[in-house]
Amino acid sequence: MKTILLKGGRILDPSQSLDLVGDLLIEDGRISAIDKSINFPYAEVYNVSGCIVCPSFVDVHVHLRDPGQTYKEDIESGSRCAVAGGFTTVLCMPNTKPPIDSPEVAQYILEKSKKVGFCQVLPAGALTKGRKGQELTDFYALREAGCPALTDDGAPLMDSRLMEMALKLARQLDLLVMNHCEDDRLSMGHINEGYVSSLLGIAHRSPSAEDILVARDCILSYHTKGKIHIQHISSKLSVEIVRSFKEKGAPVSCEVNPYHLLFEEEEVLSSGSNAKVNPPLRKEEDRMALLEALKDGTIDCIATDHAPHAKREKGSLESAMPGMIGLQTALPMGLELVRKEVITLEKLIYLLSISPAKLLGVERGIKRGNFANIAVFSMDEEWVLDEKTNLSKSQNTPLWGKTLKGRVRMTIWEGRIVYNCINKGA
Ligand SMILES: [Zn+2]
Repeated sequence: MKTILLKGGRILDPSQSLDLVGDLLIEDGRISAIDKSINFPYAEVYNVSGCIVCPSFVDVHVHLRDPGQTYKEDIESGSRCAVAGGFTTVLCMPNTKPPIDSPEVAQYILEKSKKVGFCQVLPAGALTKGRKGQELTDFYALREAGCPALTDDGAPLMDSRLMEMALKLARQLDLLVMNHCEDDRLSMGHINEGYVSSLLGIAHRSPSAEDILVARDCILSYHTKGKIHIQHISSKLSVEIVRSFKEKGAPVSCEVNPYHLLFEEEEVLSSGSNAKVNPPLRKEEDRMALLEALKDGTIDCIATDHAPHAKREKGSLESAMPGMIGLQTALPMGLELVRKEVITLEKLIYLLSISPAKLLGVERGIKRGNFANIAVFSMDEEWVLDEKTNLSKSQNTPLWGKTLKGRVRMTIWEGRIVYNCINKGA
């Protein structure tokens, strides 16, 4: 394995308040030295001055569409997107064909991602067989097969009795239960309930749909002490519910999608079905509540919900599949919040790396002896997301063709450079 020396970057690790302009040495896959100046013969040297050097990112919510819908994305293309976005660990959702409701499908994902070899792909197992919400899967077998978390994402688990059983069982097995919280009887529509849905005369999804299930899951977590993770939180009331249950000591966590932090319901007027997502983009007051919750720690992490779809699946607002791609745009979107002084750069790195790593129980941190899982990025480099830069098989995002600020320049996974646009040499 190559010895790598990164010279002159600003090394930032919020987990240990590390903030140092200097050099970082990687030997045998691990971080072996961090100092103001390191000289090491035989190392491959990269000048990263002007860049941020931080723990690589962890995404607890991606759809890689493999097996079954590889025309949208597959483990290889999805892994390429991940590392171009600074991620070296992603948790892939089980709404594949077949779904990840058996150890065999989980093993397929682990084996294929190892062969591809760009990053760590962890399978999220399904909570229920066939994601049908009727019967729990074999949690023990899924855990043994390598699933750290379980969810029926896309299909909310509506049956409260099953959710209670799931939380009790998951607690015994130390598994994380995640839920896509939207009561399906109240979320048959396509966009947020509000002035845009009235204007366009389009069936809506009520925020009540989200709030009801978030409250139910928090209550069940409070009583069972089973860990629940609320996926893609988007409404003001949901955030308030999570905050109050955290105060009561319930083991509740939640993630937010960058799109919900930066866009509002009006976005569908300009971006059409590329701005259709479940739960939907909401009102300004919801977005403001999300930003507040990001600051005060109610929201645990940023997750992309990278959801690729083919062009033909993104027709009219009514017919389009919900979701947006997001692995390559998460960092520039997060940096937008740093520029607007909503959060600090350290907090952004915490939300993209340290905190989601904790949720999944994976190691992150720039410490001697740790595996070198590193992202190197420029805060200011501008780039356009288009055919040339996009590494996904799909193009569904309101950011298509837009200029983005902030770009990943190198990603290192367990000491190997898996993405790079920096020339060798000091
Ligand atoms: Zn979802």
